[in-house]
Amino acid sequence: MWHTKRTSRLIALHPFGMSDVSRSFIAACVVLLGLVLSLLLLRGIAHAQGIVVSGTGARYTFAQQMTFTVTARSDVDILSAVVVFRARNGPERRGIGVFTPGKAIQAGFVQQLVGGVLPPFSPVTFWWELTDAAGRKTTTPPASRDYLDNRFPWKEAAEGSLHVWSYAGDAAYARSALDVARSALPRVNQELQTQLPPRVDIYLYTALDELQSALLLAGRDWQGGQARPDLGVVLAAIAPGQGALAQMKRDIPHELTHLLVFQATGVGYARVPRWLDEGLASVNEELAQPEYQLALEAADRAGQLIPLETLCAPFSPDAGLAQLAYAQSQSVVQFIRNNYPDGIRKLLGAYIGGATCGGGVEQALGTTLSALEFRWRASLGPQGVWLTLVNSVGAWALLAVMVSLVLLPLAFVRRRAQEAAGKASVRQGGLRVRTR
Ligand SMILES: [Zn+2]
Repeated sequence: MWHTKRTSRLIALHPFGMSDVSRSFIAACVVLLGLVLSLLLLRGIAHAQGIVVSGTGARYTFAQQMTFTVTARSDVDILSAVVVFRARNGPERRGIGVFTPGKAIQAGFVQQLVGGVLPPFSPVTFWWELTDAAGRKTTTPPASRDYLDNRFPWKEAAEGSLHVWSYAGDAAYARSALDVARSALPRVNQELQTQLPPRVDIYLYTALDELQSALLLAGRDWQGGQARPDLGVVLAAIAPGQGALAQMKRDIPHELTHLLVFQATGVGYARVPRWLDEGLASVNEELAQPEYQLALEAADRAGQLIPLETLCAPFSPDAGLAQLAYAQSQSVVQFIRNNYPDGIRKLLGAYIGGATCGGGVEQALGTTLSALEFRWRASLGPQGVWLTLVNSVGAWALLAVMVSLVLLPLAFVRRRAQEAAGKASVRQGGLRVRTR
């Protein structure tokens, strides 16, 4: 029989007794199994792939808007894209990306910057959170973009850790700023003895309105410079030409002092009273501001000095009051320097430790804020003593003290006269008994 013959041949070929039919069946099963496994594998790979992000970005128009973007794909529709962003030391903000849901998307979120949402000159860190229809989520690694004032063609002059940026003036102008900064840093740090910032960027604007528009400092026309101590950034409005060097010698050491006070205090910087921070910055100016002394003397004469406690907080936006606040702060810091050895460093140490404005003075100088103020006012001059007394105890109380000083001797003379008269009457034999 054919089958018998064939079987016998197969038997001859396959000692384990497998027929041709069985062999085909097993082969088919193997192929099928392979197909199933391949499908499962492919499906597994697709599952593991999930959302794939091919790019993120951030571009901006200074002081107007910043646009965050993300490009991504998935094996199912991507349904949501949220950007999370924050400036250094700033609050975390979230924005919902705009896009058409699909397997490949390009999403964007536009943040308006008017009103100072993001502080200029700060790096902005951002990342995206994406979700697809399968419920899978992915978060992109954080990316960073420096938010600089890119309205001007800045040129850089650098030396070591110091970088001066300017868009006007010649090389000597930028060089002068670099020289002033280089000599100011170690001089200021002699007192503070802190670690110098790893990098300092000084931006020189040529006009106040350009700087102020960068900082949105509306209402503070008197503010010619600003420091961002946490960023190691100094901004100053100094026009090139005559007078530039003198202004650099005032403004640059002043702003650098703020950077060093921040270096010395870190997170405690927020607790450093304004009179101490601005007072230090002002005493470190390389050229004195005569108008400070004039403002101080005029206010002292008129009895209109600002209470020191008021100067713990940010200064008034009023130009006249702000100038007096700077003048007083400078004078108080100089007074502390003259009368309390190592007082400044002790004060900063107290504020690092969490002291309040007055508590820091007590801890570091062993006196109260009001006693310090009393002594400082008295040091301003003879008339300062009287005005200090008036301000301390009040005009009526002081008047009462003065009147009593005049009346007491008179009362004493009168009493002595009465006593003399009484003694005379006893001597005359009549004993007078006072019942009331
Ligand atoms: Zn300042």
